[in-house]
Amino acid sequence: MSKKKSLKTVWVFGDQLNRQIGALSEASPATHRVLMIESSEKISSRRWHVQRAHFYVTSMRRFAQELEQEGFEVDYRKSVSMRQGYDEHLAQFIPPNIVATEPNSYSARELLKSLGVATTPSNQFLCHPGEFAIFAEGKKALKMEDFYRWQRKRLNYLMDGNQPVGGKWNFDEENRLPPPKTGHDRWPVPKLVPLDKTDKAVLEDLPSTVWGNHPEGLWATTRSGALERLDYFVDQLLPSFGDHEDAMIQSNWHLAHSLLSPYLNIGLLLPAEVLDAAAKAFERGHVPINSAEGFIRQILGWREYIWNCYWRWMPDYANLNHLGANRPLPPLFTNPKATSMNCMSNVLEGIQQRSYSHHIERLMILGNFALISGVNPQQFTQWMWNSFIDAAEWVMVPNVIGMSLYADGGLLATKPYASGGAYIDRMSNHCRDCKYDRKQRVGENACPFTVLYWDFMMRHQTTFVKNPRIARQVRGAQQLSNIKDVQKTAKSVLNRLDQGLL
Ligand SMILES: Cc1cc2nc3c(=O)[nH]c(=O)nc-3n(C[C@H](O)[C@H](O)[C@H](O)COP(=O)(O)OP(=O)(O)OC[C@H]3O[C@@H](n4cnc5c(N)ncnc54)[C@H](O)[C@@H]3O)c2cc1C
Ligand code: SF4
Repeated sequence: MSKKKSLKTVWVFGDQLNRQIGALSEASPATHRVLMIESSEKISSRRWHVQRAHFYVTSMRRFAQELEQEGFEVDYRKSVSMRQGYDEHLAQFIPPNIVATEPNSYSARELLKSLGVATTPSNQFLCHPGEFAIFAEGKKALKMEDFYRWQRKRLNYLMDGNQPVGGKWNFDEENRLPPPKTGHDRWPVPKLVPLDKTDKAVLEDLPSTVWGNHPEGLWATTRSGALERLDYFVDQLLPSFGDHEDAMIQSNWHLAHSLLSPYLNIGLLLPAEVLDAAAKAFERGHVPINSAEGFIRQILGWREYIWNCYWRWMPDYANLNHLGANRPLPPLFTNPKATSMNCMSNVLEGIQQRSYSHHIERLMILGNFALISGVNPQQFTQWMWNSFIDAAEWVMVPNVIGMSLYADGGLLATKPYASGGAYIDRMSNHCRDCKYDRKQRVGENACPFTVLYWDFMMRHQTTFVKNPRIARQVRGAQQLSNIKDVQKTAKSVLNRLDQGLL
């Protein structure tokens, strides 16, 4: 038998692009051939944002080239579906053995099961669901804060013996400053890298259903590019990550956010190297504790927690709709011009331009609005999934169904993240240039966030009055002297929303 014929296959999925991940970390050019499948069915299955589709496919193609440069034979297969690509590979190479790393989505794991492909455990996250089960054992509620402390201790981040460095586990109260009045250019603009031949070839191959502005080199598509972005973030932005973490500014779309989620989610960066870089910068005095802790919590705590909630609760979790929200996705989500709400149109335009918005915009503008206007959770999930550069089912579903829309009835978040215009006015500078008046809750100029917030509390009063974390707001709504007029205004707001006239 020739040596080539005896090569085993390691199947690498498009979100496992790292030599250190699972099965690939144990493979060598002498023993393994690599299979990667670019599925046209997947690429045309949704109306992807062009930058997201480009990011994913370009990163795959470049990773395949890097593996070839290392000496691997790579079967980079453009097929209709993953299943078909696998069958074609099998027929052509007849490998003695095929192995993959546990994939990151429920459906891909089901596919591998049905094909009988063996998997090795994934090391793409720091807490494998097997380890999470140890944390969860005997607990009634799975609180993120408890999980985060458990992770800090067991993985030794920001610890001083058994105690948290700085004497506290959480410096959040220092990280909620409103936007500064001036100096909105204090956060350096991310670097753009000109597109090359590979980028252009990918763009030509994408289906005509993609939408949004074409890429301009904002998102790196190689590991070395992602590592450069990590260095840049730690050096330039991490020191100020904390203070204005929750602020939203019209003239600055990124503030001190890292923009690292896309790379983490497809394997170009691994969580431990990002955390180590942040922890080291803190140790050498480059970063204050509120920024270091705030950032480390996002990755060591939130990201790992969300990943594990997904595996614990899927597949039923994706279909939950506890509040019975059945409004079809309103037109403004696909056409930012269909609204005069300054906050919404600003964030939606940003998504058109870059396929990105930062966390507080996702939670307190987009998610909050979908929640209080009663948008169907599954339709909203699909829209977000199509639109964001860093989207993946494992992260989109818990963040939308659980964190944003309370569609899981409080499994993940203990209260709905609902707020009116007052919160948005405090944390952003959107309201001053808006056609609507965030203080008004009745009439033509009433702020839709304010109106729908009170209306939402009334619509779900029976459910929420039993929840101590939100009962006060429900009673506040019940006691508003003009609540009937507010509810009437809400009807008109929702009507205009459905027609794309809000
Ligand atoms: C409705 C909604 C949808 C979201 N969809 C996604 C998504 O599809 N993909 C995605 O990666 N994140 C998602 N998030 C989480 C979070 O908003 C993004 O990870 C973050 O905005 C990415 O930008 P950044 O890298 O600049 O983040 P930073 O603010 O710099 O945060 C650092 C890192 O922390 C991690 N992180 C922080 N919060 C979360 C969280 N709630 N869940 C998972 N990781 C977190 C991310 O890896 C992020 O890169 C969503 C949040 C909400 C509320
Ligand atoms: S007034 Fe209301 S709609 Fe306008 S920007 Fe403020 S919160 Fe948004």
